[in-house]
Amino acid sequence: MVDFLVPPHAPTVLEVAGGGLFAVRRVFCVGRNYAAHAREMGGDPNREPPFFFTKPADAVSSQATIPYPPETKDVHHEGELVVALKSGGARIAAKDALDHVFGYAAGVDLTRRDLQAALRKEGRPWDMAKGFDLAGPTGVIHAAAQIGHPAKGAITLSVDGVEKQKGDLADMVWSIPEIIESLSRYVVLAAGDLIFTGTPEGVGPLARGNKVEVRVAGVGAHAFQIV
Ligand code: MN
Repeated sequence: MVDFLVPPHAPTVLEVAGGGLFAVRRVFCVGRNYAAHAREMGGDPNREPPFFFTKPADAVSSQATIPYPPETKDVHHEGELVVALKSGGARIAAKDALDHVFGYAAGVDLTRRDLQAALRKEGRPWDMAKGFDLAGPTGVIHAAAQIGHPAKGAITLSVDGVEKQKGDLADMVWSIPEIIESLSRYVVLAAGDLIFTGTPEGVGPLARGNKVEVRVAGVGAHAFQIV
């Protein structure tokens, strides 16, 4: 037997409501996924395809305090519904997509907005704007077997008790099955993968001391403080 010379790292884990743990494998995020108005009439043929970016698995954290990240003066909150997969595959059809979902959590896609704007302007990768340490605060996972598959209901984010973001899951431009269908064309999805599904309007800056709470109706909430 060959020994590891550097020991393998422990996986990032999230708690599951009712007991047990979920080991995080990879973290995918959907860009701009809420229309300003509710989607009507069953879809818009002019929708642009969803686009994706990633965070490292160990950016996900359920800790109660998050230090203000370095190399930024403009960290923004993006409250999001997070999908947790129990299985995966390539080229998953939308009609089969929910079979691969273990559960859901409320999370925040923390973003160095100043850095993102500069990188975007120069056509450079977003990684250091989105994939920094502790950039994915995420709450307890609630199993779909318990709560079902949420497709509508309020998603809100408050800072120090003041509501800053409010949307409805029904306003997602791309639904969860459609996101899984699209993403699984680019990568082979697998158990442990998380998908941050995008944020409604109202993103804004955070400061040290701010208490942040994201809440998704029918799913749950997650709170943390920037220190
Ligand atoms: Mn986001």
